[in-house]
This record gives sequence, C-alpha cells and structure tokens, in this order.
Amino acid sequence: MKTIGMLGGMSWESTVTYYQVVNRLVKERLGGLHSAKCALVSVDFHGLEAAMAQGDWDAVAATLAAGGRQVEAAGADFLLICTNTMHKVAPQVEAALGIPLLHIADATADAMAARGIHKAALLGTAYTMEQDFYTKRLAARGFDVIIPGPDVRARLNRVIFDELCRGIITPESKSFAREIVAAMQAQGAEGVILGCTEIGLIIAQDDTDCPLFDTALIHAAAAVDRALAE
Ligand code: GLU
Repeated sequence: MKTIGMLGGMSWESTVTYYQVVNRLVKERLGGLHSAKCALVSVDFHGLEAAMAQGDWDAVAATLAAGGRQVEAAGADFLLICTNTMHKVAPQVEAALGIPLLHIADATADAMAARGIHKAALLGTAYTMEQDFYTKRLAARGFDVIIPGPDVRARLNRVIFDELCRGIITPESKSFAREIVAAMQAQGAEGVILGCTEIGLIIAQDDTDCPLFDTALIHAAAAVDRALAE
C-alpha cells in the first residue's frame, strides 16, 4: 500500500471527511484491521483565507508548497490538496514537490465520465465558480460546465465561509443547497459537482434524484485506488 499524502485544514471540517473515507475504504477493500497509510499536514486556515480574499495567491502558494514539502518529507507517495479552491495554486505546489499531485478536478472528471455525464453544474466558492482554473480543466476533458447566477454564487460563498468551514449546519442552508441543485437540473445539468469539499455537509445523494459528484468523497476514493494499485 502506498502512503496517501494529505494537505488539509481548509477547512478541517472536510479534512475529517477525507480521513474517515480513506480509512473506511481501505478497511472495506483489505478487511481485517487494515487502515490507510497517510501523511497529513493540516494548515491554519485563518491567514490563508485572508490572503485569498486579498488576492494574494503568491502567499497562498508559498504556504501550501511548504506544507506539501512537509507531507513529502513525512513519506507520502503522492499528494492530495484537500480543497477545490486551493487548486488555483496547484501548479506552484506541484512544481515544489518530487511526488505527484492527484488533482481533485481530474478525479471528479473521471467520476463524471464513468457515469456518462456531459453537462454538469459546478457549485463551490466564488473563486472556484468564477475563475477559470477549475472550469477550464473540466472543459479540457470535454465537459460543458454551467454555474449559478451571481446572487446564488454570492450566497453560496457566504454559506461556505461563514457556516460550513466553521462547522455551522443550518436547515436554511440545507434547503438552499437542494434548491440550487433543482434549479441547475432545470437548466439542463445532468449532474451537479459539489465542488467545495464542505458542501457535502449540507446535501447528499439521498436528498435529490440529480446525480451529485461530491468532490471530497471522489478525491478520497481516488486516493485509495491509487494507494492500493499494483
Ligand atoms: N474547502 C473548500 C473548497 O473545496 C473551500 C475552502 C477553501 O477556500 O479552500 O473549495
């Protein structure tokens, strides 16, 4: 088994999900007392969020490259950046490392291709929905990606940073998530990408008949596939 490297803490609410999923899947696949071999570095999100808000992506990249090097030094065979938004600086992090990065958008694209999806709605932070580092990567794989309108994007961004990343789960935000998924489905989305690793805290597949692609679950599962591959 290879050692899964994880750069987490962004937020730690979803890093918990990653840690649970990789261990649960390794246990399911190997049985007995098997558990995932992991090297996790969890950063302090507060200053990183401020740097993002100021557009200081160089500072974000420097912090995450340093974190990635710590993960590598701890013996990881490959790295997951356990958040979608921070993949904006994935090229800089990757360049700083001697181990490969398992990109969250690539894992998500593989999962959608396996389900025959062509047109998908992307939900996430304003950075992920509005900038092109994520949508372009999906478009390059042939997906037609749509995003909600500006009011919905702004509210979703607030829910992510003011509630989900702080562990606050409200019935209003759960209803909001279901409403967005229904609206995107009505606009022709064959599936909806939960393109923020915390959105799965307020909506799950049981809540809708629209295929959901929860990036935290997909990314963690792809890591286990790689860790257990021959
Ligand atoms: N975890 C979130 C994501 O997947 C948002 C936090 C961040 O900005 O990294 O995008």
